[in-house]
Amino acid sequence: THFGFETVPETEKAKRVYKVFENVAQKYDTMNDAMSLGVHRLWKDTLLHVMHPQPGVRLLDVAGGTGDIAFRFLEYVRFQQERQKRRAARSMQAPSWQDISNNYSTEEEDGPQESRAVVCDINKEMLRVGKQKADGLGISAGLSWVVGDAEELPFDDDQFDIYTIAFGIRNVTHIDQVTGCIVTTASLMLRCFYEDRSFIFPGLYDAYSFQMIPVLGEVIAGDWKSYQYLVESIRKFPDQEEFKGMIEDAGFYSVKYYNLTGGVVALHSGFKL
Ligand code: SAM
Repeated sequence: THFGFETVPETEKAKRVYKVFENVAQKYDTMNDAMSLGVHRLWKDTLLHVMHPQPGVRLLDVAGGTGDIAFRFLEYVRFQQERQKRRAARSMQAPSWQDISNNYSTEEEDGPQESRAVVCDINKEMLRVGKQKADGLGISAGLSWVVGDAEELPFDDDQFDIYTIAFGIRNVTHIDQVTGCIVTTASLMLRCFYEDRSFIFPGLYDAYSFQMIPVLGEVIAGDWKSYQYLVESIRKFPDQEEFKGMIEDAGFYSVKYYNLTGGVVALHSGFKL
């Protein structure tokens, strides 16, 4: 182990993870900005661009924490809805062949297309901070918060179209159980972030993560140990190819991954019928 990090026994891991996020919930967003120099916002935006959700789609965001993915999802869908309305209005004024051949659905034809996002997280404290944030941003329509374990999701099979887990899978004890759990959800896409050592600046990234992140954790969140644990858990996660294989083993097809910021973060996606 590096720098005397202790290894957390499997059975202890869930408890440890719970404590970590309970301790840092209040400062979680500030820490994300500090640790990634704000770049986590771009990573999350990228996830939404790759996902490209359309109105009516239902999202389950597991390990959703303080709601960043769900907020972006609802915003993105709202924007798509506005665009479709504008296009429909334009085509009413002056229909073109393209408009006529585009078979987009309108509210009149199909009824209102309600998108919704469920943020599911094992930690009540993270969800509480998320709800406060949603209230502050005035986001409430289509959004709900559910306490639940990624390894034993408390939902029926066909309630969602898209599944996301962002910066969450390395916190769970049995990764295969999580990917296995997703199998029970019909028609979904797995969006998964995976943090790894950088391909470009491995030395720099090592120095940054092992030395700077716990210091930032202490200064901002008053919690050195939690962030020391975070760095260690990143190291233990399988690499991009191996994780891709695990997703395929769970029955997904067209599994792809994109390395972001030189491989510091990767986005995995896949489909299941
Ligand atoms: N997705 C959010 C984001 O990108 O900002 C939060 C990510 S945060 C690093 C990891 C989250 O995973 C925490 O909120 C933690 O409580 C949650 N978590 C850890 N183990 C979990 C489990 N077994 N089931 C559900 N959530 C879990």
